[in-house]
Amino acid sequence: MHCHLDLYPDPFGVARQCENKGIYVLSVTTTPQAWSGTKKLENNNSKIRTALGFHPQLAHERIRELELFDAILPKAKYVGEIGLDGGKEYKETFKAQLDVFRYVLKSIRNAGGRIMSIHSRLNAGGVLSQLEKHPDAGIPILHWFTGNKLELKNAIDIGCWFSIGPAMVKTKSGQAVISEIPRNRILTETDGPFARHRGQPLMPWDAGLVVPQLAKLWDIPILEVENILQENFRMLISQGVNAE
Ligand code: MN
Repeated sequence: MHCHLDLYPDPFGVARQCENKGIYVLSVTTTPQAWSGTKKLENNNSKIRTALGFHPQLAHERIRELELFDAILPKAKYVGEIGLDGGKEYKETFKAQLDVFRYVLKSIRNAGGRIMSIHSRLNAGGVLSQLEKHPDAGIPILHWFTGNKLELKNAIDIGCWFSIGPAMVKTKSGQAVISEIPRNRILTETDGPFARHRGQPLMPWDAGLVVPQLAKLWDIPILEVENILQENFRMLISQGVNAE
């Protein structure tokens, strides 16, 4: 549910491999400008879907692209990645981040809502308070969530889903978060090529690496984990506004 296909050295090669393997990929983008080029990776009949994004770390440089975001939105069935980043290095641009996040949530609501992949690094509280103010924006999926227990509870209460990847399940803090999430709200992701595993960028098909870890954490057989994850995915898509 969260992979940057367009940022691999050979995006078309990776997309072709996804197609051969028959896997579903939510191909997120970081700017409205990137959407149309990235959409070409769908190659008509594959299981790749392209999400329209506005990354918080780029918000301040791209405010001009809000108009383009609105122009593309009717054609985009998924949104991501969007959100807020509370990192020190982005403190100076926080106002722009917040303006962009609020703006796009309003647009998404006006467009009838979307499934959204959301970045909340070091500012889960800020993200959740905006989602609470825009309850009709659709279905939020918090990607690689690292908030505290209270924020996690709040996120669950307001109906968020969570996409988790190999880089998250291998850390103690990630496992602590995962063990508190209801099993029927968990989806998989990689955040490749940014997220890495054993020194290599994660590939979209590496999302399955979380399965044995979840089996351990939940103390159930691998097959059961696979069933839960597939059922969750089906449930999400069937609830999605503009479901395909
Ligand atoms: Mn990402």
